[in-house]
Amino acid sequence: MSEVFILDATALISGLDPNIIDRTLWTVAEVIDEIKDPRNKLRIEMAIENKTIKIGRPSATAIDKIQQAAEKSGDIVVLSDTDIKVLSLALDLKEEGHEAVILTDDYSVQNVASRLKIDTKAYTTAGIRYEIKWELYCPSCFHSIEMRNTKRKQLFCEICGTKMKRRPYDKRIRKFKERKK
Ligand SMILES: [Zn+2]
Repeated sequence: MSEVFILDATALISGLDPNIIDRTLWTVAEVIDEIKDPRNKLRIEMAIENKTIKIGRPSATAIDKIQQAAEKSGDIVVLSDTDIKVLSLALDLKEEGHEAVILTDDYSVQNVASRLKIDTKAYTTAGIRYEIKWELYCPSCFHSIEMRNTKRKQLFCEICGTKMKRRPYDKRIRKFKERKK
């Protein structure tokens, strides 16, 4: 069995260098969309172009299984659609006979993966540049709050009541926006 690594958003946003990892690397297109730092994004796009990172599209069956597992464990409230797709791709690769390992420092991703017997590995030792912070955002009105201040009731948007989603909070992007105000 060949071992493959699946990268989640935390792994790539933290500046993990795909060129130093001696495995076939996979991720989903949605992860690439979450990378905001232009230099990091360029490096990742180059890695995709020279096939260091492969982009996979998870099957609907795998997505269903992951959603069910995440509902059972309660992780569904914090997992983003991107996280679900990363987990689903790992499940597909595992079922195709690969030894699939998700590189992630995210506790909820690790938790759901372990329920489906998918291995995970924290990448902190593999060249992390800065710590990921999280925010909750409203997919409907785009109101957002930092996750460390989050109490359970805030899982629903305080402006419009929509269920909030989690995403990595990119400090540099936030600073840029503040300057423009
Ligand atoms: Zn809202």
